[in-house]
Amino acid sequence: MINREKLTEHYRSIGLTGKAIKSILKSHKRLLKLGLRDGRERVCIVDCHTGRIVLKKTGTANYIAWDMKDITSDLVIVIHNHPSDSPFSITDLSTFSKWGQIWCIVAQGHGGAFYILSKKGKGVPHKLSINELKTKMYDMWSNKEYAGASHKEKNIFFVKEIAKKANWNFFEGGA
Ligand SMILES: [Zn+2]
Repeated sequence: MINREKLTEHYRSIGLTGKAIKSILKSHKRLLKLGLRDGRERVCIVDCHTGRIVLKKTGTANYIAWDMKDITSDLVIVIHNHPSDSPFSITDLSTFSKWGQIWCIVAQGHGGAFYILSKKGKGVPHKLSINELKTKMYDMWSNKEYAGASHKEKNIFFVKEIAKKANWNFFEGGA
C-alpha cells in the first residue's frame, strides 16, 4: 500500500539521509497499520540526523496535537496520519511554518494519499498565523475558479498556494 520507491526518491531529493529515510518509512508503515486498525490519528517525530524516533503520540479520530517545546532535536520530520485522506489542516500548516526545526511534515491518508511539505532552507521558518491562513483559505474558497472542485481538491489547491508563497516543496503522492 505504501510506495516505498517513490517516497524514498522524494526524501532523497530533499536531502534526507539514508538513516532517516529508513526510520521514516518504518513509521509510515506503523502509522498506517495502527490507524487502519482503530481509526485514530497518530504522530511520530523522527530526528533527521540520526533517524531516531523522538516522539510518538496517539490522538482521536480526527485530531492529534503535540508540543514542539518537548522536542530537543534541532531538525525533525513530523509524520502523522489522516484517516480522512485529506491534506494538511490549518493547524498543521501553522505549526510547520512556526517551527524552524521541522524540516518536513507528512500527512498520510488511510486511502493511500501522501502529502509532504519540506522547507528549502533548513531551519528557516516562514511564520503564518492561523488567522492569516484562515483568511487565505476563505478567499480561495470563495473564488469562482474553484467552484466546481471537491472539498479535498480545494484543500490541495490551498496547500499548493501556501507552499508557493512560503517557498516550500510540496509533494503529493498516492500509494
Ligand atoms: Zn494533520
